[in-house]
Amino acid sequence: MAPIVSAILTSYNKSHTIGQAIESVLAQTMGNWELFIMDDNSNEETVGIIKRYLNDPRIYYFNSNIQDSERYKKTRYATLINGALLKAKGKYITYLTDDNIFLSERFRVMVDVLKQNRQVEIVYSQQIVRFLDENGKMQYEITRNTKGILNKPAGLVDHCSIMHTREIADKIFRKHGGYWDDDPAYWFNGDAAFWNRLTKFNSFYPIPKTLDIAFKGPESFQKLYAHLPNSIPNGTLVKGPSSEIYIIDNQERRKISPEIFEKLKYDHNQVVKIPDPFLFKYKEGIFIDDQIFLNLTLLPNQRLIKSPEHPAVYYIQNNKKHLIKNEKAFRDFKFQWNQIVIVSDQLLAELPDGLPIEALSNEITILPDGVLFHDEFYYISLNNHLHPIEERVAVKLNLPVTNPVRIGSSFLTKFKQGEPFNWKIVF
Ligand code: UDP
Ligand code: MG
Repeated sequence: MAPIVSAILTSYNKSHTIGQAIESVLAQTMGNWELFIMDDNSNEETVGIIKRYLNDPRIYYFNSNIQDSERYKKTRYATLINGALLKAKGKYITYLTDDNIFLSERFRVMVDVLKQNRQVEIVYSQQIVRFLDENGKMQYEITRNTKGILNKPAGLVDHCSIMHTREIADKIFRKHGGYWDDDPAYWFNGDAAFWNRLTKFNSFYPIPKTLDIAFKGPESFQKLYAHLPNSIPNGTLVKGPSSEIYIIDNQERRKISPEIFEKLKYDHNQVVKIPDPFLFKYKEGIFIDDQIFLNLTLLPNQRLIKSPEHPAVYYIQNNKKHLIKNEKAFRDFKFQWNQIVIVSDQLLAELPDGLPIEALSNEITILPDGVLFHDEFYYISLNNHLHPIEERVAVKLNLPVTNPVRIGSSFLTKFKQGEPFNWKIVF
Protein backbone atom coordinates (compact mmCIF):
# COMPACT_ATOMS: atom_id res chain seq x y z
CA MET A 1 0.00 0.00 0.00
CA ALA A 2 1.36 3.44 -0.90
CA PRO A 3 2.13 5.63 2.13
CA ILE A 4 -0.05 8.67 2.82
CA VAL A 5 2.77 10.88 4.14
CA SER A 6 6.38 11.07 2.95
CA ALA A 7 8.54 12.73 5.59
CA ILE A 8 11.95 14.04 4.57
CA LEU A 9 14.57 14.41 7.29
CA THR A 10 17.85 16.16 6.47
CA SER A 11 20.78 15.32 8.69
CA TYR A 12 24.29 16.58 9.28
CA ASN A 13 26.36 15.93 12.40
CA LYS A 14 23.69 16.41 15.03
CA SER A 15 24.28 13.22 16.99
CA HIS A 16 22.60 14.62 20.11
CA THR A 17 19.25 15.32 18.47
CA ILE A 18 18.93 13.09 15.38
CA GLY A 19 17.60 10.16 17.45
CA GLN A 20 14.72 12.12 18.93
CA ALA A 21 13.86 13.53 15.49
CA ILE A 22 13.51 10.00 14.08
CA GLU A 23 11.60 8.82 17.13
CA SER A 24 9.12 11.66 16.76
CA VAL A 25 8.17 10.20 13.37
CA LEU A 26 7.95 6.67 14.80
CA ALA A 27 5.61 8.02 17.50
CA GLN A 28 3.07 9.45 15.03
CA THR A 29 -0.52 8.40 15.76
CA MET A 30 -1.01 7.95 12.02
CA GLY A 31 1.22 5.06 10.99
CA ASN A 32 0.91 5.09 7.23
CA TRP A 33 4.07 7.04 6.38
CA GLU A 34 7.52 6.62 4.91
CA LEU A 35 10.59 8.44 6.19
CA PHE A 36 13.59 9.46 4.08
CA ILE A 37 16.66 10.07 6.19
CA MET A 38 18.87 12.14 3.92
CA ASP A 39 22.26 12.26 5.56
CA ASP A 40 24.88 14.69 4.28
CA ASN A 41 27.88 12.49 5.02
CA SER A 42 27.79 12.98 8.78
CA ASN A 43 30.39 11.82 11.29
CA GLU A 44 30.37 8.20 12.53
CA GLU A 45 28.61 9.09 15.75
CA THR A 46 25.60 10.48 13.90
CA VAL A 47 25.48 7.68 11.32
CA GLY A 48 25.74 5.14 14.15
CA ILE A 49 22.58 6.54 15.73
CA ILE A 50 20.70 6.62 12.42
CA LYS A 51 21.56 2.97 11.76
CA ARG A 52 19.70 1.88 14.91
CA TYR A 53 16.43 2.76 13.22
CA LEU A 54 16.90 1.20 9.80
CA ASN A 55 15.14 -2.08 10.60
CA ASP A 56 11.78 -0.36 10.22
CA PRO A 57 10.69 -1.02 6.61
CA ARG A 58 9.11 2.45 6.40
CA ILE A 59 12.51 4.11 6.85
CA TYR A 60 14.88 4.74 3.94
CA TYR A 61 18.42 5.98 4.42
CA PHE A 62 20.58 7.79 1.89
CA ASN A 63 24.06 9.18 2.36
CA SER A 64 25.10 11.92 -0.04
CA ASN A 65 28.81 11.04 0.42
CA ILE A 66 29.50 14.72 -0.25
CA GLN A 67 33.13 15.82 -0.03
CA ASP A 68 33.65 18.56 2.56
CA SER A 69 35.24 20.87 0.00
CA GLU A 70 32.03 20.68 -2.09
CA ARG A 71 29.55 21.54 0.67
CA TYR A 72 29.40 25.29 0.18
CA LYS A 73 28.52 24.94 -3.52
CA LYS A 74 24.84 24.13 -2.93
CA THR A 75 22.26 24.83 -0.27
CA ARG A 76 22.78 21.29 0.96
CA TYR A 77 19.45 20.61 2.62
CA ALA A 78 17.66 21.71 -0.57
CA THR A 79 19.78 19.30 -2.61
CA LEU A 80 19.01 16.48 -0.16
CA ILE A 81 15.29 17.25 -0.17
CA ASN A 82 15.24 17.20 -3.97
CA GLY A 83 16.83 13.75 -3.95
CA ALA A 84 14.14 12.46 -1.60
CA LEU A 85 11.28 14.06 -3.55
CA LEU A 86 12.27 12.06 -6.62
CA LYS A 87 11.70 8.86 -4.61
CA ALA A 88 8.82 9.82 -2.32
CA LYS A 89 5.52 8.00 -2.95
CA GLY A 90 3.21 9.64 -0.39
CA LYS A 91 0.16 11.71 -1.26
CA TYR A 92 1.51 14.39 1.11
CA ILE A 93 5.03 15.69 1.69
CA THR A 94 6.45 17.00 4.96
CA TYR A 95 9.91 18.01 6.20
CA LEU A 96 11.99 17.94 9.34
CA THR A 97 15.54 18.72 10.30
CA ASP A 98 17.81 16.79 12.63
CA ASP A 99 17.25 19.31 15.45
CA ASN A 100 13.46 19.27 15.40
CA ILE A 101 10.73 17.00 16.71
CA PHE A 102 7.18 16.48 15.53
CA LEU A 103 4.38 16.21 18.08
CA SER A 104 2.68 12.82 17.78
CA GLU A 105 -0.59 13.97 16.21
CA ARG A 106 1.10 16.11 13.55
CA PHE A 107 0.52 13.80 10.55
CA ARG A 108 -3.08 12.98 11.47
CA VAL A 109 -4.09 16.61 12.09
CA MET A 110 -2.45 17.93 8.93
CA VAL A 111 -3.69 15.11 6.69
CA ASP A 112 -7.24 15.61 7.98
CA VAL A 113 -7.22 19.31 7.07
CA LEU A 114 -5.77 18.61 3.62
CA LYS A 115 -8.28 15.80 2.96
CA GLN A 116 -11.32 17.73 4.13
CA ASN A 117 -10.56 20.91 2.15
CA ARG A 118 -9.89 20.06 -1.45
CA GLN A 119 -8.85 23.62 -2.32
CA VAL A 120 -6.15 23.54 0.38
CA GLU A 121 -2.81 22.18 -0.87
CA ILE A 122 -0.40 23.56 1.74
CA VAL A 123 -0.91 23.67 5.52
CA TYR A 124 1.32 25.13 8.23
CA SER A 125 1.15 25.01 12.00
CA GLN A 126 2.56 26.67 15.12
CA GLN A 127 6.10 25.93 16.20
CA ILE A 128 7.80 26.10 19.58
CA VAL A 129 11.44 27.19 19.34
CA ARG A 130 13.65 26.21 22.28
CA PHE A 131 16.96 28.02 22.65
CA LEU A 132 19.68 25.92 24.29
CA ASP A 133 23.07 26.75 25.81
CA GLU A 134 26.30 24.89 24.99
CA ASN A 135 25.37 22.12 27.46
CA GLY A 136 22.00 21.54 25.82
CA LYS A 137 20.15 23.21 28.70
CA MET A 138 17.08 25.21 27.72
CA GLN A 139 17.51 28.98 28.08
CA TYR A 140 14.07 30.11 26.92
CA GLU A 141 11.41 29.28 24.36
CA ILE A 142 9.14 31.16 22.01
CA THR A 143 6.09 30.14 20.02
CA ARG A 144 5.82 31.03 16.37
CA ASN A 145 2.11 31.43 15.91
CA THR A 146 0.20 30.95 12.70
CA LYS A 147 -0.71 34.22 11.02
CA GLY A 148 -3.79 33.40 8.97
CA ILE A 149 -3.77 32.45 5.31
CA LEU A 150 -0.40 33.47 3.89
CA ASN A 151 0.63 34.40 0.37
CA LYS A 152 4.07 35.60 1.48
CA PRO A 153 5.23 33.09 4.10
CA ALA A 154 8.96 33.85 3.63
CA GLY A 155 10.54 34.35 7.06
CA LEU A 156 7.28 33.49 8.85
CA VAL A 157 7.09 29.73 8.36
CA ASP A 158 9.82 27.17 9.00
CA HIS A 159 9.95 24.16 6.73
CA CYS A 160 9.52 21.84 9.73
CA SER A 161 6.00 23.24 10.17
CA ILE A 162 4.39 22.52 6.81
CA MET A 163 2.80 19.76 4.76
CA HIS A 164 1.89 20.01 1.08
CA THR A 165 0.42 17.74 -1.54
CA ARG A 166 2.52 15.65 -3.88
CA GLU A 167 0.55 17.22 -6.70
CA ILE A 168 1.69 20.77 -5.98
CA ALA A 169 5.31 19.58 -5.86
CA ASP A 170 4.82 18.08 -9.30
CA LYS A 171 3.41 21.37 -10.60
CA ILE A 172 6.58 23.08 -9.39
CA PHE A 173 8.70 20.44 -11.04
CA ARG A 174 6.96 20.94 -14.37
CA LYS A 175 7.42 24.70 -14.14
CA HIS A 176 11.02 24.86 -12.86
CA GLY A 177 12.49 21.50 -13.85
CA GLY A 178 13.13 20.80 -10.17
CA TYR A 179 11.62 21.19 -6.70
CA TRP A 180 13.70 23.23 -4.23
CA ASP A 181 16.17 25.79 -5.54
CA ASP A 182 19.54 24.68 -4.15
CA ASP A 183 21.51 27.67 -5.37
CA PRO A 184 23.99 28.50 -2.55
CA ALA A 185 22.59 32.06 -2.39
CA TYR A 186 19.72 30.49 -0.41
CA TRP A 187 21.75 28.80 2.36
CA PHE A 188 20.14 31.03 4.95
CA ASN A 189 16.59 30.79 3.66
CA GLY A 190 16.19 27.86 1.29
CA ASP A 191 12.67 27.33 2.55
CA ALA A 192 11.67 30.91 1.70
CA ALA A 193 12.91 30.34 -1.86
CA PHE A 194 10.70 27.25 -2.09
CA TRP A 195 7.75 29.10 -0.53
CA ASN A 196 7.99 31.62 -3.37
CA ARG A 197 7.55 28.76 -5.81
CA LEU A 198 4.69 27.17 -3.85
CA THR A 199 2.69 30.38 -3.42
CA LYS A 200 2.54 30.85 -7.19
CA PHE A 201 0.07 27.96 -7.07
CA ASN A 202 -1.67 28.21 -3.69
CA SER A 203 -1.62 29.91 -0.26
CA PHE A 204 -0.43 28.56 3.05
CA TYR A 205 -3.42 27.51 5.14
CA PRO A 206 -3.02 27.82 8.95
CA ILE A 207 -3.55 25.13 11.58
CA PRO A 208 -3.38 27.11 14.84
CA LYS A 209 -1.87 24.27 16.92
CA THR A 210 1.69 23.58 17.93
CA LEU A 211 2.78 20.52 15.96
CA ASP A 212 6.58 20.70 16.10
CA ILE A 213 9.42 21.86 18.34
CA ALA A 214 12.68 23.30 16.98
CA PHE A 215 15.88 23.30 19.05
CA LYS A 216 18.46 26.03 18.49
CA GLY A 217 21.87 25.62 20.08
CA PRO A 218 24.81 28.03 19.92
CA GLU A 219 26.12 26.02 16.96
CA SER A 220 22.89 26.40 15.02
CA PHE A 221 23.58 26.96 11.36
CA GLN A 222 21.41 30.07 11.24
CA LYS A 223 23.34 31.55 14.11
CA LEU A 224 26.82 30.74 12.78
CA TYR A 225 25.98 31.81 9.26
CA ALA A 226 24.30 35.12 10.11
CA HIS A 227 26.30 38.17 8.94
CA LEU A 228 29.11 36.11 7.46
CA PRO A 229 30.40 37.74 4.26
CA ASN A 230 30.75 35.76 1.07
CA SER A 231 34.51 35.75 1.38
CA ILE A 232 36.31 35.91 4.72
CA PRO A 233 39.10 38.52 4.90
CA ASN A 234 42.70 37.36 5.27
CA GLY A 235 43.84 37.49 8.87
CA THR A 236 40.55 36.20 10.34
CA LEU A 237 40.77 33.42 12.93
CA VAL A 238 37.99 30.90 12.32
CA LYS A 239 36.67 27.72 13.87
CA GLY A 240 34.01 25.27 12.70
CA PRO A 241 31.96 23.15 15.10
CA SER A 242 35.06 21.05 15.90
CA SER A 243 37.77 22.46 18.16
CA GLU A 244 40.42 23.23 15.53
CA ILE A 245 41.29 26.87 14.94
CA TYR A 246 42.42 28.15 11.56
CA ILE A 247 43.68 31.45 10.23
CA ILE A 248 42.56 32.60 6.80
CA ASP A 249 45.91 33.41 5.17
CA ASN A 250 46.20 34.17 1.46
CA GLN A 251 42.63 32.84 1.20
CA GLU A 252 43.63 29.41 2.47
CA ARG A 253 42.76 28.00 5.89
CA ARG A 254 45.82 27.17 7.95
CA LYS A 255 45.31 25.08 11.04
CA ILE A 256 47.08 26.48 14.12
CA SER A 257 48.40 24.11 16.78
CA PRO A 258 47.18 25.12 20.27
CA GLU A 259 50.73 25.81 21.55
CA ILE A 260 51.56 28.01 18.58
CA PHE A 261 48.28 29.85 19.00
CA GLU A 262 49.62 31.10 22.33
CA LYS A 263 53.14 31.72 21.02
CA LEU A 264 51.81 33.82 18.14
CA LYS A 265 49.88 35.92 20.71
CA TYR A 266 46.50 35.28 19.17
CA ASP A 267 43.46 35.97 21.30
CA HIS A 268 40.67 33.40 21.77
CA ASN A 269 38.11 36.20 21.81
CA GLN A 270 38.93 36.89 18.20
CA VAL A 271 38.07 33.44 16.90
CA VAL A 272 34.98 33.58 14.68
CA LYS A 273 32.67 30.56 14.72
CA ILE A 274 31.49 29.65 11.24
CA PRO A 275 29.52 26.72 9.78
CA ASP A 276 31.41 23.73 8.36
CA PRO A 277 30.45 24.24 4.74
CA PHE A 278 32.04 27.71 4.78
CA LEU A 279 35.17 26.58 6.56
CA PHE A 280 35.73 23.74 4.12
CA LYS A 281 35.31 26.15 1.23
CA TYR A 282 38.90 27.25 1.89
CA LYS A 283 41.70 25.00 0.73
CA GLU A 284 43.80 23.74 3.60
CA GLY A 285 47.17 25.54 3.64
CA ILE A 286 50.42 24.83 5.49
CA PHE A 287 49.94 23.79 9.12
CA ILE A 288 51.11 26.38 11.63
CA ASP A 289 53.29 24.57 14.17
CA ASP A 290 56.82 24.92 15.60
CA GLN A 291 58.32 24.84 12.11
CA ILE A 292 57.43 28.49 11.61
CA PHE A 293 60.12 29.42 14.14
CA LEU A 294 62.73 27.70 11.98
CA ASN A 295 61.59 29.30 8.76
CA LEU A 296 59.84 32.63 9.05
CA THR A 297 58.45 32.50 5.52
CA LEU A 298 55.99 29.98 7.01
CA LEU A 299 54.71 32.56 9.49
CA PRO A 300 51.12 33.65 8.88
CA ASN A 301 50.68 37.25 7.72
CA GLN A 302 49.41 40.06 9.92
CA ARG A 303 51.68 39.32 12.90
CA LEU A 304 54.04 41.70 14.70
CA ILE A 305 57.59 40.45 15.12
CA LYS A 306 60.78 41.70 16.71
CA SER A 307 64.19 40.36 17.66
CA PRO A 308 65.10 40.00 21.37
CA GLU A 309 67.81 42.70 21.19
CA HIS A 310 66.69 45.38 18.74
CA PRO A 311 63.78 47.71 19.38
CA ALA A 312 62.56 47.62 15.74
CA VAL A 313 59.10 46.09 15.31
CA TYR A 314 57.92 44.66 12.01
CA TYR A 315 54.52 43.77 10.64
CA ILE A 316 54.23 40.86 8.28
CA GLN A 317 52.12 41.19 5.18
CA ASN A 318 52.55 39.77 1.72
CA ASN A 319 55.03 37.41 3.39
CA LYS A 320 57.45 40.33 3.86
CA LYS A 321 58.48 42.21 6.99
CA HIS A 322 57.48 45.85 7.08
CA LEU A 323 59.27 48.03 9.58
CA ILE A 324 56.89 50.07 11.72
CA LYS A 325 58.54 53.44 11.36
CA ASN A 326 58.02 54.85 14.85
CA GLU A 327 55.90 54.63 17.95
CA LYS A 328 53.30 56.94 16.52
CA ALA A 329 52.76 54.63 13.55
CA PHE A 330 52.42 51.74 15.99
CA ARG A 331 49.77 53.54 17.99
CA ASP A 332 47.97 55.09 15.01
CA PHE A 333 47.06 51.68 13.62
CA LYS A 334 46.11 50.37 17.08
CA PHE A 335 48.79 47.72 17.25
CA GLN A 336 49.19 46.14 20.69
CA TRP A 337 52.51 45.72 22.52
CA ASN A 338 51.43 42.42 24.01
CA GLN A 339 50.92 40.97 20.54
CA ILE A 340 54.57 41.17 19.50
CA VAL A 341 56.18 37.81 18.76
CA ILE A 342 59.89 37.53 19.52
CA VAL A 343 61.98 35.79 16.84
CA SER A 344 65.71 35.32 16.42
CA ASP A 345 67.84 38.02 14.76
CA GLN A 346 69.13 35.57 12.22
CA LEU A 347 65.67 34.48 11.07
CA LEU A 348 64.50 38.08 10.99
CA ALA A 349 67.35 38.95 8.64
CA GLU A 350 66.34 36.17 6.26
CA LEU A 351 62.82 37.51 5.84
CA PRO A 352 62.56 39.89 2.85
CA ASP A 353 61.83 43.55 3.58
CA GLY A 354 58.72 45.35 2.42
CA LEU A 355 58.04 49.09 2.52
CA PRO A 356 58.00 50.62 5.99
CA ILE A 357 54.70 51.52 7.66
CA GLU A 358 54.59 55.27 8.43
CA ALA A 359 52.44 57.10 10.95
CA LEU A 360 48.91 57.88 9.84
CA SER A 361 48.71 60.97 7.62
CA ASN A 362 47.47 61.94 4.21
CA GLU A 363 51.01 61.39 2.91
CA ILE A 364 51.25 57.66 3.57
CA THR A 365 51.34 55.26 0.65
CA ILE A 366 51.12 51.89 2.32
CA LEU A 367 48.49 50.56 4.68
CA PRO A 368 48.97 47.71 7.12
CA ASP A 369 46.63 44.81 6.31
CA GLY A 370 43.64 43.84 8.41
CA VAL A 371 43.11 47.21 10.11
CA LEU A 372 39.58 48.47 10.71
CA PHE A 373 39.07 52.12 9.67
CA HIS A 374 36.05 54.32 10.16
CA ASP A 375 34.84 57.62 8.82
CA GLU A 376 31.11 57.50 8.19
CA PHE A 377 31.35 53.81 7.31
CA TYR A 378 33.73 51.01 8.18
CA TYR A 379 36.58 49.84 5.95
CA ILE A 380 39.11 47.06 6.30
CA SER A 381 42.55 47.38 4.69
CA LEU A 382 43.85 44.53 2.56
CA ASN A 383 46.46 44.69 -0.15
CA ASN A 384 46.57 48.46 0.05
CA HIS A 385 42.86 48.69 -0.72
CA LEU A 386 40.12 49.90 1.59
CA HIS A 387 37.23 47.46 1.52
CA PRO A 388 33.91 48.80 2.76
CA ILE A 389 32.59 46.45 5.45
CA GLU A 390 29.10 46.47 6.90
CA GLU A 391 29.05 47.08 10.64
CA ARG A 392 27.21 43.83 11.42
CA VAL A 393 29.77 41.94 9.31
CA ALA A 394 32.63 43.62 11.18
CA VAL A 395 30.94 42.62 14.46
CA LYS A 396 30.55 39.03 13.26
CA LEU A 397 34.27 38.96 12.38
CA ASN A 398 35.18 40.26 15.87
CA LEU A 399 36.81 43.38 14.43
CA PRO A 400 37.24 46.28 16.90
CA VAL A 401 34.14 48.27 15.90
CA THR A 402 34.24 50.31 19.11
CA ASN A 403 37.90 51.19 18.61
CA PRO A 404 38.58 51.59 14.88
CA VAL A 405 41.22 53.84 13.31
CA ARG A 406 39.39 57.12 12.64
CA ILE A 407 40.05 58.71 9.28
CA GLY A 408 38.78 61.67 7.30
CA SER A 409 37.22 61.57 3.85
CA SER A 410 40.38 62.99 2.17
CA PHE A 411 42.25 59.92 3.41
CA LEU A 412 39.71 57.70 1.74
CA THR A 413 40.36 59.16 -1.69
CA LYS A 414 44.06 58.25 -1.42
CA PHE A 415 43.40 54.52 -1.60
CA LYS A 416 41.51 52.35 -4.02
CA GLN A 417 38.34 50.82 -2.67
CA GLY A 418 38.17 47.02 -2.78
CA GLU A 419 35.26 44.58 -2.96
CA PRO A 420 32.87 45.25 -0.08
CA PHE A 421 32.31 42.70 2.69
CA ASN A 422 28.54 42.45 2.90
CA TRP A 423 25.98 40.13 4.32
CA LYS A 424 23.67 39.09 1.52
CA ILE A 425 20.40 37.36 1.98
CA VAL A 426 18.22 36.81 -1.03
CA PHE A 427 14.45 36.39 -0.95
N1 UDP B 1 22.80 20.57 6.49
C1 UDP B 1 23.24 19.73 5.50
N2 UDP B 1 24.55 19.78 5.12
C2 UDP B 1 25.47 20.63 5.68
C3 UDP B 1 25.01 21.52 6.68
C4 UDP B 1 23.66 21.46 7.08
O1 UDP B 1 22.47 18.93 4.98
O2 UDP B 1 26.64 20.60 5.29
C5 UDP B 1 21.36 20.52 6.89
C6 UDP B 1 21.14 20.09 8.33
O3 UDP B 1 21.09 18.71 8.43
C7 UDP B 1 19.79 20.69 8.66
C8 UDP B 1 19.68 21.85 7.68
O4 UDP B 1 20.81 21.79 6.82
O5 UDP B 1 18.78 19.78 8.39
C9 UDP B 1 19.62 23.22 8.37
O6 UDP B 1 20.71 23.35 9.25
P1 UDP B 1 20.52 23.54 10.79
O7 UDP B 1 19.43 22.67 11.32
O8 UDP B 1 21.88 23.41 11.39
O9 UDP B 1 20.07 25.03 10.89
P2 UDP B 1 19.59 25.64 12.22
O10 UDP B 1 18.18 25.19 12.42
O11 UDP B 1 20.47 25.06 13.26
O12 UDP B 1 19.76 27.11 12.09
MG1 MG C 1 17.73 23.39 12.43
